[in-house]
Amino acid sequence: IFGEQRKNSAGINIDIESEWRPFSESIQTFRQHQWQAGPIVNGEILTGETLAITAPYDRREAVGSVVFANAEQVEKAISVAAEAYPSWSQLPAAERAQSISRLGDLLEAHTGELVALCHREAGKTIQDSIDEIREAVDFCRFYAAQAATDFAEPKQVIGFDGTTKLLSYQGRGVFACISPWNFPLAIFLGQVSAALAAGNTVIAKPAEQTSLIAFRAIELMLEAGVPAGVIQFVPGTGAEVGASLTSDPRIAGVAFTGSTETAQRINRTLAARDCEPAAFIAETGGQNAMIVDSTALPEQVVRDVVRSAFASAGQRCSALRVLFVQEDIADRITALIKGAMAELSVGRPELHSTDVGPVIDAGAREKLLTHIESLKNQAKVVAQAELGEACLHGDFVAPTAFEIGSIEMLKNENFGPILHIVRFKASELEQVIDQINNTGFGLTMGIHSRNERTYCHIERRARVGNCYINRDQVGAVVGVQPFGGQGLSGTGPKAGGPHYLYHFTKDVFNA
Ligand code: NAP
Repeated sequence: IFGEQRKNSAGINIDIESEWRPFSESIQTFRQHQWQAGPIVNGEILTGETLAITAPYDRREAVGSVVFANAEQVEKAISVAAEAYPSWSQLPAAERAQSISRLGDLLEAHTGELVALCHREAGKTIQDSIDEIREAVDFCRFYAAQAATDFAEPKQVIGFDGTTKLLSYQGRGVFACISPWNFPLAIFLGQVSAALAAGNTVIAKPAEQTSLIAFRAIELMLEAGVPAGVIQFVPGTGAEVGASLTSDPRIAGVAFTGSTETAQRINRTLAARDCEPAAFIAETGGQNAMIVDSTALPEQVVRDVVRSAFASAGQRCSALRVLFVQEDIADRITALIKGAMAELSVGRPELHSTDVGPVIDAGAREKLLTHIESLKNQAKVVAQAELGEACLHGDFVAPTAFEIGSIEMLKNENFGPILHIVRFKASELEQVIDQINNTGFGLTMGIHSRNERTYCHIERRARVGNCYINRDQVGAVVGVQPFGGQGLSGTGPKAGGPHYLYHFTKDVFNA
């Protein structure tokens, strides 16, 4: 039954009028809607003090409100999940997978609402919002299908002595799933569906900025048939809810996606617990580079650079931050980038014409503006896109490209629409690769070259999780481009790949 479901979600092509019109009408229904969210413990929506949520592109627009979980509610959520674990983990894998796969269908059926919620709460463009829902659907179906096949029966291990033993995979216990705001549905559900499919019960903590869409996802999950004890939802801040989860000895594993700094903090908290060590899956930040040599096609390079650096307002972990261009073609490339950036339309995400929407909140905006201001004294501004009147009431940052002397000037990940360009001589290629590796991050890399020896050589030497050749470097597809980094960019099992689920299990060997 899962064979068909291995196909990725078709999504909606907004450039085809007959597809776009009914879909845009369904989004329109939710234009003024106000969503309410709160902790869901054992299937019950809990109440408390409400916090207002406003739209990142216009802070005057109310989107809804959320109740954050208090300490007592978090405690209750952990107890309920711990109690539900034995029966959930004993269910046949195919039965667990059924409800997760059904969630994929329900998400597709609610695409209009979820797209509206995604662009109003997270500020994503319509295209990004559609992609977000598709990816969430794909994760549910992919992990459900894999669990139903891989975990259906114990694997036979044939020993050198000719005997056959059985190896089975079981859940580890209660998993805490802690996710970021930049993929508020896809990463949120990717973690949760994997943990559940592998036989764990889950406590899900979304990013505080995107609690509403996560709450709707959990409501749909319960509707899809995931038992109330198996999934607990505890919105709140990382400092309070996140820290109480990760310090609790009943948490058997943590699936985390977010910044490297937070992953390091969680790692220390887990290590300080006086109990069984927890499994820790961390997918974190990057200092992603692209190397362009003199054989590359400039127009193709610029198309891919602009998408990689500025799509989603640069708020993708995979986004291009540092472009290395061989000096022979650097003038031509920077002139084309400048031209392309002059055409970028920055504004309200619901407009078809918008290329770049807002950043997530005022704090992110301030950080990015501080970086831009400090670089203005040390580097050359290549181009800065215009912010029109539509941006006056939101958290917008103008896409900006700088030419800088060295990648070593960048100490942190700048999570927004800022591109740094570095020129290099052909003789310096090895140093460029060393410098990129020396950042310690290892998430994505782009290469543009028509010389096969060059791109194969760079690919072999680069210490990154995902390397993209002669294309953009964002938008990994579930089951097609398994995604995840190494070094400071994460612990490794690639999301949407064949090994991810196994990291949520323990192996039981019957000799
Ligand atoms: P973040 O600040 O690290 O937060 C991520 C999550 O961790 C949020 O839910 C946050 O709660 C929570 N958190 C914060 N402190 C915590 C603590 N002490 N204990 C437990 N949980 C805690 O990251 P972000 O700003 O949301 O997301 C952007 C980052 O994610 C970027 O660095 C980006 O590169 C990375 N990212 C990586 C990938 C990947 O696949 N490698 C994918 C997407 C994003 P709050 O709501 O309170 O912040």
